[in-house]
Amino acid sequence: MIDGHVHLSEIEHPERAVENAVRAGVKRMVAVAMNLDSCRKTLALVDKFSDKVLPAMENTLIFITQNIHRCVALGEVGLDYKVKVKKKLQKAVFSKLLNLAVQINKPVIIHSRFSHQRTYEMAVNAGVEKAVFHWYSGPVDILDNIIASGYHVSATPALAYSPQHQAAMERAPVERILIETDAPVQYGDRLSEPADLKETLFHLSMIKKITEGELAEIVTKNAERFFGL
Ligand SMILES: [Zn+2]
Repeated sequence: MIDGHVHLSEIEHPERAVENAVRAGVKRMVAVAMNLDSCRKTLALVDKFSDKVLPAMENTLIFITQNIHRCVALGEVGLDYKVKVKKKLQKAVFSKLLNLAVQINKPVIIHSRFSHQRTYEMAVNAGVEKAVFHWYSGPVDILDNIIASGYHVSATPALAYSPQHQAAMERAPVERILIETDAPVQYGDRLSEPADLKETLFHLSMIKKITEGELAEIVTKNAERFFGL
């Protein structure tokens, strides 16, 4: 299995987390970064675990331009209408990053909290061909447009309790779903790590009524195709 979205740089003992994940059957991890510091930390982990940790990054355009050739994707990037950063500024930065992704021909990992429609429109308008709407829990009509545009969505362990996330994953075709942990996000009473990818797989298998073994094969192929592995 491939964890399609994990913040390894935010985990207290990332090396141990990578080892635990490998033991739990997680073959590879797409490590997202969100600022210069996490970009640097993530690349240091890649130096150590080059066959297992695949970096994706955002922010600090110069750093990205210099290092993007080492990455499998650009992300996570997007809009967050819950945080108190002006929408106009968020859109300006996101737009630049989308253009960069198109220019360098890399898939984009999109964060779209309370901004599903706008992030979707911006991706389409920028000409993005490959995008994953990470932890998609938005309206199903926007989901239909996302799928119709050839994009993907990803599932997290929140499938255990989030009705919106469950509804989205029930509706999305299985060949457009990636699985992830978004570690170290806390689900329930403890911080997650990439080894918890099996939780995502379990809940998705219940929703899709596909055995975990078969589903693992499908979503791994999806991730390989999406990230060009
Ligand atoms: Zn994330």
